[in-house]
Amino acid sequence: MKLAKRILIALALGAIVGVVINAFFPSIFKPLDGYLFTPLGTIFLNLIKMVIVPLVFFSIVTGVANIGDPKKLGRIGIKTITFFLTTTAIAITIGIVLALILKPGLAGTFQTDNLNYEPTKAPPASETFLGIIPVNPIAAMAEGAMLQIIFFAVFIGFAISYLGKKVEGIAKLMEQGNEIMMFLVNLVMKFAPFGTFGLIASAVGQLGFSALKAMFLYMLVVLLALAVHFFFVYGGAMKFLAKRNPVQVIKTYSPAMAVSFSTSSSSATLPVAMEIAQKKLGVPRSISSFVQPLGATINMDGTAIMQGVATIFIAQVFSVDLSITALITVVLTAVLASIGTAAVPGAGLIMLAMVLTAVGLPVEGIALIIGIDRLLDMTRTMVNSTGDLACTLYVTTSEENKGEVFDDVYESGEDDF
Ligand code: ASP
Repeated sequence: MKLAKRILIALALGAIVGVVINAFFPSIFKPLDGYLFTPLGTIFLNLIKMVIVPLVFFSIVTGVANIGDPKKLGRIGIKTITFFLTTTAIAITIGIVLALILKPGLAGTFQTDNLNYEPTKAPPASETFLGIIPVNPIAAMAEGAMLQIIFFAVFIGFAISYLGKKVEGIAKLMEQGNEIMMFLVNLVMKFAPFGTFGLIASAVGQLGFSALKAMFLYMLVVLLALAVHFFFVYGGAMKFLAKRNPVQVIKTYSPAMAVSFSTSSSSATLPVAMEIAQKKLGVPRSISSFVQPLGATINMDGTAIMQGVATIFIAQVFSVDLSITALITVVLTAVLASIGTAAVPGAGLIMLAMVLTAVGLPVEGIALIIGIDRLLDMTRTMVNSTGDLACTLYVTTSEENKGEVFDDVYESGEDDF
């Protein structure tokens, strides 16, 4: 059986096991989770995390060295950022509009007296931008600071393409390092069915279903907005901008979606997402290696949707009327907040505090949604990572339309899943 299918089956099995234990055998959840589900999930997560930093570094260096021409790289960069920002702004708008229409905050009585939420201090947006330059590239790698690693790798890639023959050896080394990392991704993915099973069973087993009931409409609005964005914005971008068959693309990309759903982390999804884009969807390595790591770090439409809906929800619960200016502030700050959100589980909620503060809403409101956020996190992470793929396909097609020829495309069928 194909690995993709096995992963999806494991995901469904994990969900069923989680629900059954949650509903009928809650007392055995703790030991099962401690000795089976969580260890399986952690082994998988750690295996993937092991390859992220070297993969991103090697692949960006080789990608940029391949593109060579700074003008071309600048053009690709501008297209990428424009796509990211536009789709993120559309995402928040969809979230806000649906929340204003469906009014999830007025759907029940929510206890707001004893709410407690200690906001983790979110770094100011300026820090995110200034912090891109790594004073110590080795430290950046040790800490997994993705934007800094990207920045450094772009410079090294430039240097390699500029120096040409003089540094042939290093260029080859980077290429081969990239090949080795891609090979490891393939290898690590063999464990994915067990890992996703463990992660999902653990997450679903812990869900508080009574909390789900009270928050039903809020969740529905977030899920609906995610679906609208996914099908219409990404589907449209794939069809009309990238000239691809969206159904085919999504089907091919589904193992990566399963990984993002089970890990709730765009960065953990990155290795398999790049592998699929390059080896199954014919994206040139130079484009995938630049757009996808950048997207995993700063492009989070699903997160932006949650932040938009959550802000309106909290405003409704606390009976605050948001003016048009306040709504525009929400859109702008949520774009920044989603850029600054780390690509790890739950990070979107931390950054939500920044959006709420910008329009004077109480951050304690976050306590209302924190309990049910995991399920939404899983879903929005899937959207986050698919957005990066849509951008990758769009940039590829638009460069090809310009007559660019890429010689760094894998032959199809070079992967195992
Ligand atoms: N878990 C999300 C991601 O990694 C971020 C978030 O919204 O919490 O993409």
